Formats: sequence, C-alpha cells, structure tokens
Amino acid sequence: MFDLNYDPIKKEIESEVCKEHGLHPELVPTEEGFGIKACCEPFRKELVEKSGNMIEEQTKKILNETLKDLL
Ligand SMILES: [Zn+2]
Repeated sequence: MFDLNYDPIKKEIESEVCKEHGLHPELVPTEEGFGIKACCEPFRKELVEKSGNMIEEQTKKILNETLKDLL
C-alpha cells in the first residue's frame, strides 16, 4: 500500500555486525517486502525488530506527507 524506500533500511541493517559471530546480515526482497538472513536466530530477531521500527517511522512520515497534501 505504501511505496516504502527500502534502500536506507537495507543499508542500515546490512551494516550491523553480529556480536557473536562477527558476520553481516543480508536483506533479501520477498513478495511482502523483505526478509532478513542472519547467522543466528537471536541476531535475526534483533534486526527484525530494528527494521520493523524503521518501517514504522517511514510509514508515519509518508502518512504525514500524504495528509499534508490532502489538507
Ligand atoms: Zn550470529
């Protein structure tokens, strides 16, 4: 429904490093948006949460801009 820009999210997520294994995660596009590939489950969970927050912020921004256009 929203035209989200995944590039900054991808950049930010892929710059993270696992404390446990020292590996970078990977953002893979899926039909619903994207999925995160990480070396271990705890790290992946952390990233899913982080990306979720980023998407929420972007969605709010887009909503605000859309509202401004309507008013
Ligand atoms: Zn790991």
